[in-house]
Amino acid sequence: MKHGEKSIDLGSRKLVAMRDVQDALAAGATSIETAANCVVTPSARDFLQQHGIELVMDKAADASAPAASDDYASAPAAVKSQAAVNRRLFTTPEAEEIKKEICSVGRKLWMRQFVDGNGGNISYRIGPNEVLCTPTLVSKYDLTPEDISLTDLEGNQIAGSKPRTSELLLHLEIYKSVPEAKAVVHCHPPHATAYAITGRVPPNMIIPEFEVFVGKVAISPYETPGTKAFAETVLPYVREHNTVLLSNHGIVCWADTVTHAEWYAEVLETYCWTLMLATQLGVPISTISEQHGSDLLAIKKKLGLPDIRFDTSRMKECQLSDLEVPGSIALEPTPCDGNNSNGGNGGADLESLVKAVTDAVMERLENRE
Ligand SMILES: [Zn+2]
Repeated sequence: MKHGEKSIDLGSRKLVAMRDVQDALAAGATSIETAANCVVTPSARDFLQQHGIELVMDKAADASAPAASDDYASAPAAVKSQAAVNRRLFTTPEAEEIKKEICSVGRKLWMRQFVDGNGGNISYRIGPNEVLCTPTLVSKYDLTPEDISLTDLEGNQIAGSKPRTSELLLHLEIYKSVPEAKAVVHCHPPHATAYAITGRVPPNMIIPEFEVFVGKVAISPYETPGTKAFAETVLPYVREHNTVLLSNHGIVCWADTVTHAEWYAEVLETYCWTLMLATQLGVPISTISEQHGSDLLAIKKKLGLPDIRFDTSRMKECQLSDLEVPGSIALEPTPCDGNNSNGGNGGADLESLVKAVTDAVMERLENRE
């Protein structure tokens, strides 16, 4: 240990709460060590983070560590073997490969200017109850495999020396709600985020790749990042959308691999950017015909990707969006992409949306005469 560093051993504790971390700070700790299966309360985690105290949760994983604590020694065999399984997952060849993939995807996000400062986060569900994720307060450009942590589905850190991202709850809600989701990427790409700060969604059937890989993008209402309320904002949409705009914040994508989740972020960002460029050409944007559109949806279904338009009973409410204002590249979200009656986007309710659609159609008819 370097000069000036002080580690406090809480390896015998099953639970570490606010009082314990306040005591550790008062005692001059620069890090605290706990058993891998110890529960650290969210407020205690926040406190440690605010005061720059490192949380090391691999005590029982360290073979050279002193004999296991009394609590750990007396823990039921099932708990101990589960903790050992969890810790083993963290260093398997598969985990090591995924840690490298997370780092390379992090670098892509930074190189493409999808993240800034220490923004954005990446995770992968490596076991039924285990998730590898990026740490808090590290630029995605600088990530190394040693920075990646392992947590359970409740956000408790199982292994890894750096505290996990504070945005993990968002990822965990998606994993709990969508069994097919194995990887989640959250970032702030500027053109897609421009939509997210206006509460609007892009129109559909303009570029094939967008229809196949993303399709209809949903928008979730604003909540304070890092909170459970924020994490839950995406729940109504993530089963039928692999990409969601987060109002006044950024985007989140899920996929079968970390690489694919980042691809969807790229596809959405490029689409939003291209639409903005096209509007500067001063001529109408042409759309893909209904027949060709059905071909794209058939390809998408074959690839096993989700799309709310596969649910024919919701087709009508989805289509409303594309009729709203002819030629518009920023549409009011419909109920199927985020404008529900209790949503907080400041968007119109269904009734006023129907009126807007009717007005637009009437205007179009009048212009034909
Ligand atoms: Zn963010």
